[in-house]
Amino acid sequence: MTVKQTRYQSIFETAIDGVILINDRGLIEDINEAALHLFQYDKNELVGQNVSVLVPKPHTQKHDSYLQAYQKTGEAKIIGIGREVSGLKKSGEEFPFRLAVSEYQHQGVTYYTGIIHDLTKQKEYEAYIKQYSQQLEKKVAERTQLLEQEISLREEAQQALLKSQKLYETISVNFPNGSITVLNNNLDIVFIEGSELKKFGYGTEKLLGRSYVELLPPEVVDVVKEHLQAVCNGVERSFEFKIADRTYLARCVPLFGPKNRIEQILMVETNITPQKQAEEEIYNALQQEKRLNELKTRFVSMASHEFRTPLSSILSSAGLIERYTEKAQNESRVKHVQKIKRNVHNLNMILNDFLSLEKIEGGLIKNNPEEIDLREFVEEVKEEAEAITKKGQGINCQFMHNQDHYLLDSFLLRNTLNNLLSNAVKYSEKDVAILTKEEEGSLVISIQDQGIGISKEDQRGLFNRFFRASNSTNIQGTGLGLNIVKRYAQIMEAEVTFESEINKGSTFSLVFNLQNT
Ligand code: ADP
Repeated sequence: MTVKQTRYQSIFETAIDGVILINDRGLIEDINEAALHLFQYDKNELVGQNVSVLVPKPHTQKHDSYLQAYQKTGEAKIIGIGREVSGLKKSGEEFPFRLAVSEYQHQGVTYYTGIIHDLTKQKEYEAYIKQYSQQLEKKVAERTQLLEQEISLREEAQQALLKSQKLYETISVNFPNGSITVLNNNLDIVFIEGSELKKFGYGTEKLLGRSYVELLPPEVVDVVKEHLQAVCNGVERSFEFKIADRTYLARCVPLFGPKNRIEQILMVETNITPQKQAEEEIYNALQQEKRLNELKTRFVSMASHEFRTPLSSILSSAGLIERYTEKAQNESRVKHVQKIKRNVHNLNMILNDFLSLEKIEGGLIKNNPEEIDLREFVEEVKEEAEAITKKGQGINCQFMHNQDHYLLDSFLLRNTLNNLLSNAVKYSEKDVAILTKEEEGSLVISIQDQGIGISKEDQRGLFNRFFRASNSTNIQGTGLGLNIVKRYAQIMEAEVTFESEINKGSTFSLVFNLQNT
């Protein structure tokens, strides 16, 4: 063997791939160890055999015809190309391999060398990869389906949520006459909506995260805080509070989170101002009705007493006048006529007072200012009052006001001055003065007497209805006059002031703001 032959022989024997050498008739000339191992034959079992024993059906029979066709046409189906084919082991088991065939000539004979590269492992691996990827694909497909289902469910849920959110939002934004607020345990605003917010000029965004109580007026903070803290401790609360001239009713419930812990407070606030106003009006009307009823009851009991004295005095004077038939008795007759007049005046005053109070209580008396000549007006009032002055008692006027005319309600002013003048005349024996002046932006009209005066103690109750000072009980009176004076003054937007000293006299003044007169 030449060196070259030895080299080839060694490669042939030790090659990892199988090598089979066949002649042009398809008979195996030689086969290496690797091929024998693959086909599981001994060498002597194969050498001289047709190579088709190593080819599985249906190719077994056809192998010769493949060879012949190639030899005839020279058209190679495999030579120099290499392809994947199946081999047949001695055991009958088939296995895949890659076959590369080459041909060569030796001494006029064509030989073919087939190199067999076992693909069993590769095929197994490929099959495993294929199966694995199929499984993966299946899993991916299943997951995708699940995911799609999940997405569509989530989308549906989201749609439903959006729909309900939209609904809640619409409800809360338009919540009539109030607002819906959610606070956390620190009383910070977590949610706030409602038509009432517009009144405060607040946008929801500006309120979120802010402390609720800090938005309230200082005077209600403590009360509201106390209620909200009680709600934080699990107590439902309803309470009212005022912001400016509006009254709100707040109804609060705790909101429980996981583990049944109170995490938030739900507060529904309603503006109940109209209801409150109606309530107040009804209450005031009721109070007024009550006062009027009381007044009537008191008046009836007072009048039955106060009317008796002047009426019996009138009766006795009338009886006397009847008897004074002589001319010489003229003076006595005049005296009793005067007495009757005074008593009638008193009765008239009592009735007037009562009617005035009834009208005031009924809200029927309004201020109707008109231009009046103050001097002329006061002179008139003075003349009327002179009818009730006592013997030797005069009424003096002292005018120190600046303007001729003032804007004043003549009815209210006349009644007020009449009341004050009749008191001054009644509670004194000496002259009475009417003084007018302008002082520090005010018009002041005062009635001054030098009579019994009013003790400091009695001065406190002076303007209360039916009040009578302790030093005047033997002088006729109802205790209504000064109350009426005060109420009339209020209607005229004037103030009543007084100064008095016991046994020295009293001065009652009406003080008008010059800007109003
Ligand atoms: P009346 O004079 O009918 O009792 P008033 O309401 O006018 O009722 O007065 C209440 C009380 O005030 C009087 O009863 C009297 O005690 C006291 N009073 C009012 N004016 C004077 C006055 N000029 N001098 C002293 N006391 C007065």
